[in-house]
Amino acid sequence: MTNTQLPEKKLLTGIPASPGIIIGKAHLVDRSRVKILYQYLINEDQINREVERFKKALCITESQLLQIKNRMPERMKDHSFILDSHIMIIHDSMLKDATVEKIRKEKINSEWALKKSFEEIKLLFDEVDDYYIRSRLTDVENVTERILRNLSGNNDTSLSQINGRVIIVAHDLSPADTTELNITRVMGFITDAGGRTSHTAIMAQALEIPAVVGLEQATKQIREGDLLIVDGNSGQVIFSPDEDDIIAYQEKQLRHEQYKSFIARTSHLPAVTLDGQRVYVMANIEFLEEVAAAKDYGADGIGLYRTEFLYLRSKGIPSEDDLFEDYREVAEIIAPMPVTIRTFDLGGDKFMAGLKTAREMNPALGLRAIRFCLKETKIFKSQLRAILRASTLGNVRLMFPMISGVQEVLDAKAILHEVMAEMEKEGIPFDHQIKTGIMIEVPSAVAMAEALAEQVDFFSVGTNDLIQYSLAIDRANELVAGMYQPFHPAILRMIRQVVSAAKGAGIEVSLCGEMAGDPLCTAALLALGINQLSMNARVIPLIKKIARTISSEDARDDLEKVMTLKTATEVRKHLLRTMSELLPELGEEGILDLSGGAR
Ligand code: PEP
Ligand code: MG
Repeated sequence: MTNTQLPEKKLLTGIPASPGIIIGKAHLVDRSRVKILYQYLINEDQINREVERFKKALCITESQLLQIKNRMPERMKDHSFILDSHIMIIHDSMLKDATVEKIRKEKINSEWALKKSFEEIKLLFDEVDDYYIRSRLTDVENVTERILRNLSGNNDTSLSQINGRVIIVAHDLSPADTTELNITRVMGFITDAGGRTSHTAIMAQALEIPAVVGLEQATKQIREGDLLIVDGNSGQVIFSPDEDDIIAYQEKQLRHEQYKSFIARTSHLPAVTLDGQRVYVMANIEFLEEVAAAKDYGADGIGLYRTEFLYLRSKGIPSEDDLFEDYREVAEIIAPMPVTIRTFDLGGDKFMAGLKTAREMNPALGLRAIRFCLKETKIFKSQLRAILRASTLGNVRLMFPMISGVQEVLDAKAILHEVMAEMEKEGIPFDHQIKTGIMIEVPSAVAMAEALAEQVDFFSVGTNDLIQYSLAIDRANELVAGMYQPFHPAILRMIRQVVSAAKGAGIEVSLCGEMAGDPLCTAALLALGINQLSMNARVIPLIKKIARTISSEDARDDLEKVMTLKTATEVRKHLLRTMSELLPELGEEGILDLSGGAR
C-alpha cells in the first residue's frame, strides 16, 4: 500500500471485557513484556547486594501500587481488593522467598531469578484446567513485570500522563495500569492479551470504560492515530472504518447509552410479569468479591455460589474456618436475600494443588463433584460444617452438584446428617431446617426427577452440563462448540419434565446455567414454569426488563408453538422473533447485542 491510498478497513475480534461502544483515535502504549537484557552469574560477595537490590525493587513496586490504590476515585474503592491482591503477590513466598533463594543458591542476578520463579509458578498454574484459575496467573505476571521494570529502572511509562480523547492500544494492561488511565480523557482500551475474567476487565467495568481484550494482533496491526471503532459488547474492533460502519456504530452507541440509563433507573425494581407473576432474578458468583456487584445489578439473591475457587486458590485444602469466614461474609452481605451455596464441583477438570488425583481420560465423566465428595468424605464434611455454621448468619441454602440418581442424594444427605449430629453434640449452632437441593444437570437425573423431588427442597437446572451430557458435546472443546445448542428441542423437553416433577412434589425449581441469562430464553423459561433464574450479574437488569414485558399466558401460547419445532435452528429463530416483538425498541440485532447469555 502506498501512502496516498486510504488505509484498508480491518476487523479484529477479541473478548468483550467492558461494555460500551467508542469511536476514536488509537494511541499505542508500550506495555510489552519487559525484556531481560542481562542474565548473569554473580560472585559470592555480590549476593547480599543483589538480594538488597531485589528487595528494593519489591519496596518500590509496593509503594507504587499503594499510591495507585490511594488515588483511586471513590467509585472504584470497591475494587481496591484487586490492588491489595497484587500487593500480596509481591510478598508471596513462591515469588519473593523463592527468588531470594535462587539468587543465593544459584548465584544469579535478580531479573533472572525472578523470571525463573515466575516460570515455576506458571507451571503449577498450567496444571489446572480451570480457565478462571489460569487467568489469575495474569495477576502474578502483571506484578512480576512491574518488579522487572523497577529492577531495570525503567518505570517511567506512567499511563496517567496520557493526554487527549484516545483509545489505548497495548499488548497488555495490568489492573494498576488500568486504574491509572486518566479516566476523564481515555475513551477505552484494547489489548492483545487478557481474558473475560481478568482483573483488568473487572477494573474497566468499574471505571465504566469500554474495553476489548485478547485481540492477539492489535499492537501489530494498528498504528498510532488510526481511527478505531471498539465494541465492548461484542468484542469487535474495526480499524480504518468506512462511513457506513461509523453511522451504524453511532446508532448502536445511542442504543447502548439508552440501555445504560434504563438500567440505572430500573435494576432495583422487582421483576413482575404483565399479569402479576413475580420472577426472581439472581446472580451466579464464583468469589466473595462479586457479591457487591451482584447487589448493584439488582440481584434478588445469589442463586449459585460456585465454591470451587477457594479450593483452587489455596495452596492446600482450605480450613473449615477459612471456608466459614468466606461463606459468612457472602451470607451477611446478601441477607435477607438467599444465597445457594453449592458444594464443590472439584475433580475431573478442576484439580486442587494439595490433592493427588489421577489424570483421567474423560474428566467430564470422571470422579468429579458429588462423586468425589462421597469418596473424600473428610474434605466434604469440612465444607458442610462451614456451610452449616454460616447458615445461622443469613439466608443460606445448600446444594449438591452433578447428582445422577437417588442413591447419591441419600448418601450425601446421610453425610450431612452425620455432620449435623456432630455439630449438635459440640454445641455449634446451625439452621436445622436448612433448605437442601440438587443440581439437575445429568440426563439420568432428569429421568429420575420425580423420585429425586421427594428427597430434596429444591432443584436447580444446570443447563451448561445438561446440554453437554445430553447432546454429547464437550462444552470446553472448540472443535464441537458450534454443536453446543441450548435451543435444542430435547433440552426444552427435559426442562419441562424437571419442572413438572418439581411442581408435582411441591418443591421449588430454578435454572442457573447460561440459558438463564440469555434474553432469547426468558419467555420460554417462564412459560415452562421457571420463575427463579440465576445468571451472570451483568445481564440481570435486561432479564428483569424482559420479564416485565411478558404476559405468562401469551408466553405459554408461544411455548406450545415452540414445542412443535424440531430443530435448534428453528427454535432459536422463533424465539428471536418473539423477543423482538416484545422489545421492538431493540429489534433483533439489539437483542443479540445485549445478550450476555448462552452464546
Ligand atoms: C451448569 O452446569 O449449568 C452449571 C450452572 O454449573 P457449572 O457451570 O458450574 O458446571
Ligand atoms: Mg454444572
